[in-house]
Amino acid sequence: MSSLHTTQELKIYNSISGQKEIFTPITEGNIGMYVCGPTVYSNVHLGNCRTFISFDLIYRYLKHLDYKVRYVRNITDAGHLENDADTGEDKIAKKAKLEQLEPMEIVQRYTVDFHHVLSKFNTIPPSIEPTATGHIIEQIEMIKTIIDNGFAYVANGSVYFDVQKFDVSYKYGKLSGRNLEDMVNTSRALTAQDDKKNPQDFALWKKAEEVHIMRWPSPWSDGFPGWHLECTAMSTKYLGEHFDIHGGGMDLKFPHHECEIAQGEAACGKSPVNYWMHANMLTLNGRKMSKSTGNTISPGELFSGENSIMGKPFAPSVTRFFMMQAQYRSILDFSKEALEASEKGFHKLMEALQTLSKVMTSSTTTGLDIQEWRQECYDAMNDDFNSPILIAKLFEAVKFINTAKEGNATITAEDHAILQQTLHDFVFEVLGLQDTNAATEDTSELLSGTVKLLIQLRAEARANKDFATGDKIRDELLAMGIQLKDGREGTTFSLS
Ligand code: AMP
Ligand code: ZN
Repeated sequence: MSSLHTTQELKIYNSISGQKEIFTPITEGNIGMYVCGPTVYSNVHLGNCRTFISFDLIYRYLKHLDYKVRYVRNITDAGHLENDADTGEDKIAKKAKLEQLEPMEIVQRYTVDFHHVLSKFNTIPPSIEPTATGHIIEQIEMIKTIIDNGFAYVANGSVYFDVQKFDVSYKYGKLSGRNLEDMVNTSRALTAQDDKKNPQDFALWKKAEEVHIMRWPSPWSDGFPGWHLECTAMSTKYLGEHFDIHGGGMDLKFPHHECEIAQGEAACGKSPVNYWMHANMLTLNGRKMSKSTGNTISPGELFSGENSIMGKPFAPSVTRFFMMQAQYRSILDFSKEALEASEKGFHKLMEALQTLSKVMTSSTTTGLDIQEWRQECYDAMNDDFNSPILIAKLFEAVKFINTAKEGNATITAEDHAILQQTLHDFVFEVLGLQDTNAATEDTSELLSGTVKLLIQLRAEARANKDFATGDKIRDELLAMGIQLKDGREGTTFSLS
């Protein structure tokens, strides 16, 4: 249906050229797309979710256009050091020490959480989800190639990428628009402990210190691969040396993606990616949502309504719809008012879909040119996945449906079928929304009331030293997927 009477010319904003470009795949009909996945050392927050939901929209639309898409999104389970730096503790190992668990227990726990949350948001799993620890051999091989090509050096058991040398042949800074000379002039001097020749050089392999538990043998030392390298090794393995689309959050553009380009060119002699796509940030109170600053709401707290900011629960589909109301390249601020407005809009859209099935057909269509409207829906998405314009178009249809219901517009049987199919395609298949009707909302209010009553009963039991009953309530709720959290201001709950 997607190509029926519509013209398709997809344009994608390419971060490397700073322009919207007509999209042409390397192999007709096929697309290779790589998106940087999470570092699994903590629960995902809504900011992380926005980036993955943005790429889910992109994936869904490309599939809707009948492309065969191989979508690779990695799991970073080693090599990502604190502050994205080349020194310091591994984020996962640090958490493992803190929680007295094996690093792989941390990885497992937060990978499960990541999948669970993304499935609540109705995202489609990627075609391949490789892990960094599963590709140590590929990373070592790639480092050997980069050394052989003369763009890396070994120092004290670690291997560093030689940015200055690379810059002479290929130019460093193409994606971020940074100039190496400027970087050199403004960077801090190296200290005596640094193994690097220049501050811009970055680690491909790090020799593990005595305390570092996540380590693998290599020709240079027992150690671990650099964070930037894993993405190059895995994208090359599954999509080839040169592929169509590489995405990630805006904050990964520099240095992570800049280093990926450098590694790809240094290893394979060619630019790895045709279209670089960057999704913008979700903010809360005007500041980037981030785990490290505590400026965040978790998906579980949002769905349960148990947080101090939103005051009531919001369903995953409503939250997804809210995110779709901004284009993926715009900053989006999270607030109660904005989510409430989205909730109203979402229900209006779902109601109109119900109403349409009851609208009688006629011999003519008046009030909306269905073919033209359909083309405009595609035009919106073809213009760099402009979901807010698409949603505005969907609301033109909502208005038409409600007018037709009142008998002030008419529609032929043929147009009715096209309208229904197009709405269905865009609302469910492309935007990935799910019909949660008013009943679900009532249920969540009911659930919230019931759990609060149980929390009160548990508190009473504990006050009477009846800890067995208190624990029973907590454990049985947990078994049902409702987690109680005891804090200074009493007990709250989240849906896991
Ligand atoms: P991390 O696990 O920190 O590597 O982050 C996983 C992904 O979430 C990356 O692509 C980040 O760019 C993205 N991300 C982190 N914070 C935000 C935010 N506030 N809004 C949107 N995306 C974010
Ligand atoms: Zn990456």
